[in-house]
Amino acid sequence: MVKINSCPKCGSNKIKWENPQLGTWKCLKCGYHGKIVIEKDNLDKQAKEAKKMEKLQKKIMRGRL
Ligand SMILES: [Zn+2]
Repeated sequence: MVKINSCPKCGSNKIKWENPQLGTWKCLKCGYHGKIVIEKDNLDKQAKEAKKMEKLQKKIMRGRL
C-alpha cells in the first residue's frame, strides 16, 4: 500500500524527513517544521486498481461461459 505524507499546515505532500534522530519533518512549501505529519493512503490509486480487478474478473467469467 502506498502512503503519502502530507503537511498538517498546508496539506502539501512536498514534505521531507528532516532529522531522523529527532523525528522531525519539514514542509518545502510552507516551511512547517515538526513531528506531526498526516499520513494518508493513495485512494485514487486504490480505486483504479479495484476497477481493473473488477474488469479482469468479468473477463474471466465470460471466458468460462
Ligand atoms: Zn506545509
